[in-house]
Parts: sequence; structure tokens; C-alpha cells
Amino acid sequence: MKCSTCQAKAAIELRRHNAAFCGPCFLTHLERQVQRTIESERMLHPGERVLVAVSGGKDSLCLWEILRRQGYETTGFHLDLGIGGYSPEGRKKTEAYAERHGLPLQVTEVKEETGFAIPELAERTRRPPCSGCGLSKRYLMNRAGLEGGFPVLATGHNLDDVAAVLFGNVLHWQLEQLSRMTPVRPATHPRLVKTVKPLIRVTEREAVAYCLLRGLDYHEDECPNAVGATSLLYKDIINQIEAVSPGSKQAFYQEFVKKLQPRLAAQETVTLRECDVCGQVTTGEVCAYCRMMERARQVTVRRGRVTRTVLEVPAA
Ligand code: SF4
Ligand code: ZN
Repeated sequence: MKCSTCQAKAAIELRRHNAAFCGPCFLTHLERQVQRTIESERMLHPGERVLVAVSGGKDSLCLWEILRRQGYETTGFHLDLGIGGYSPEGRKKTEAYAERHGLPLQVTEVKEETGFAIPELAERTRRPPCSGCGLSKRYLMNRAGLEGGFPVLATGHNLDDVAAVLFGNVLHWQLEQLSRMTPVRPATHPRLVKTVKPLIRVTEREAVAYCLLRGLDYHEDECPNAVGATSLLYKDIINQIEAVSPGSKQAFYQEFVKKLQPRLAAQETVTLRECDVCGQVTTGEVCAYCRMMERARQVTVRRGRVTRTVLEVPAA
């Protein structure tokens, strides 16, 4: 198989593009794809300061590297989730990348910030770890963007991620979530930071290939909480369809964004206001993050009482 661009020996075949590329041409192709996405969706503007969410995994490092190479003024933002056996490695890889390229990096420890690491939060609130984790990420990233005066936050969600979320939302007809599924989430309130997903046309496999060819040292392990996640099942199903019908994955997501999402968004009438507790954006009086944290603290207090009660019981 030969490279579609230079006719050298191909290193990777991209069936949905009906093309194959050698290493250097693949890198050029992928970087162009991302730049085209940024421009066509008006994600970033030249000279704009960009906060990049970086976990240390393949997608976020791929994104940071491409934005760095394309000359955007980036600052990394890493959330240390406090997940034993997983989080330290991601943080190490992120810090090493920032140091190697002399890029600014902000690190926030969820435990230090809230009093609970993600596993403790899950235990106290009796919610699945991913639920509390996702909510914490959205909240703390938005806050970091606001506090740092960044006009835009970029995340490394790839095509497989967004297609799997779309699949899950369609399966359960989650209309509200579907109406918000856009590559760009504009800042519709002064307390919201615009968020963008520049990798929506890059698959997981392509992100891995990019990291390997660029020599990026990324965190290879999956979070232990991802084991058995429905999103992995959805990705697997979509990949099976993609294997027999190349291009289906991209068409599924892109055609949704083009044809259905705007209609759903037009029907949404949500009034945003500021949370009575923290001032971040919500639709009710108190935001979901503050309610979750309050629940976690209440459990801690109750446990304290239980412990004291047990200690006060006189010996028989
Ligand atoms: Fe968080 Fe779940 Fe992702 Fe782990 S798998 S990082 S707990 S959202
Ligand atoms: Zn709040």
C-alpha cells in the first residue's frame, strides 16, 4: 500500500477517507484536519488565549501538541482526580510535556479543592464515580477558565467519544442532552466559558498514531472506573458498523450536528441564572455541583455522629 500523497510506503490506512499515508504525510493530514475543524466551526481565533484540558492521555496531548505547533497561545489545565493507581501517572505525563515545551500548566487537585477525591465522592454520594467525576470536571474547568480570564476552553474529545455519547443519547432519547451536543458550546452567560472540541474529526486510532509518530509520551492506561462503562460498548458497536461501512461514524455525528441538533436547540427554552451558593451558572437555585458537594459533606457529618454514638454506648 502506498501513501496517497507522496507514493512512499504507507504506514496507516484511513478507509473512511479512502486514503493511506506514510508517517510524515499522516502528520500533515491530521494537523490540517484539526485546523480545518477549528476554522470551519470558528472554534479559536488567532491570538486568543486557550485553556487546554489535559489529562495526560493520548487525546489531550495530541490536542495540545497540535495547538502548540499551530502557534496558539495555550495554557494546560490538569485536574488531579485522586484516583489511586491511575491519576499520578497522568499528572506526571502532563507535567513532563509542559516542562519539555516550556508551556504554562495549572494543576488542581480535586481532593484539595473539595475535600474529597473522586472515589471518596462516589462513596459518600452513592453515585457512580463517573457521574461525580464528570460534574466536577465541567465545574472546575469552567471555573478555571473564568478565573484565568480565558475566552475559550479546548477539550480532547475525539470522534469515537462524541459518536458514543450521541449513540447513548439517541438510545434513550435524551432530547435535552442532544440539543447541547455541538462541537462549540458558546458562552451563553457571563459566568460560562466557551468550550470547543477540535478533535471531533480525529478517531482514537488516529490520535494514538499521531502520538506515536510525534514521540509523545502519553498515559496509556484507562481509568479503572471505565471498565464495563456503557460508552465502551457503544464505541465497540459503532466500530463494528464502521468496519463494514467506512465513514459511518463520522457521518453519524456530523449529520446529526448539521441536520438535527439545530432543530432541537431551537426548541430548548432554558433560563440560566447564578447559583445561590457559588455563583456559577445553573437553571435552579443551587447548582448540581454544590448540591452534590453538600450531600457528600452531610454524609461525613452523619458518619461523625454515628461514630460518636457508638463510642458513647456504655460497656455491658
Ligand atoms: Fe472520571 Fe469515569 Fe473518566 Fe475515570 S472513567 S476519569 S472516573 S469520568
Ligand atoms: Zn453552585
